[in-house]
Amino acid sequence: MAVLLLALPAHSLAAAPLVAVDVGHGIQDGGAISARGRHEFEFNREFAGRLADTLRQHDLGVREVNFDGRIASLPARPEAAAGSDFFISIHHDSIGEAWLLPWEWEGQPQTHTEVKRGYGIFVSAQNPDLATSLRCASTIGALLRRAGFEPSTWHARKHVAADAPNGVWYYDNLVVLYRTTLPAVLFEAGVIKHKEEEMELRDPERQARMADTVATGIAACLFVRDVPPTTGVQGGK
Ligand SMILES: [Zn+2]
Repeated sequence: MAVLLLALPAHSLAAAPLVAVDVGHGIQDGGAISARGRHEFEFNREFAGRLADTLRQHDLGVREVNFDGRIASLPARPEAAAGSDFFISIHHDSIGEAWLLPWEWEGQPQTHTEVKRGYGIFVSAQNPDLATSLRCASTIGALLRRAGFEPSTWHARKHVAADAPNGVWYYDNLVVLYRTTLPAVLFEAGVIKHKEEEMELRDPERQARMADTVATGIAACLFVRDVPPTTGVQGGK
């Protein structure tokens, strides 16, 4: 038995970090509607499922929140995540009505945009562990960019930048981000009102690549969380 334990990587001996993955919106409130008339909740559920699978492959535990779309309220989401080490809420983005253009898809009138696309990562300055929230958000964003995904610059219109080059913005009044004891981020995978980006967001190969990148970022961020802050500082005493 001892031999078996020694053969395991060091982090297997401690409890693996537990990541709560929240599927944004639900059966009652489907969220935004895509350029082709599909509810955001369907996109969120698909991506969250891929992310959960990939996190497990990265040796992280997963707490599934609202995977059945039946959660009762916004505060119930962080409550369901209690005891985890990190909270990520999965969403897909839309745009204000003023920017929508009419078009038709499969005989139905729909709306779309051409001016906004790309991912966004949001943190709340009211989160009790803002430092970890920001570190994880920037790590995820940096890895997404390295993997070829582009952050949306549109958020500069409404949000204060936390780390704009990596697509990280403040969104302080989101219940799921501040009514929690956990470090937390909200991830907008892309803009489903953008016709081309909608198709990219539905592509299983791209979903898997994006989920793998986000999972790698979360793992990298959480596995270094206990580094002492004084490392490398040469003090006089
Ligand atoms: Zn949403």
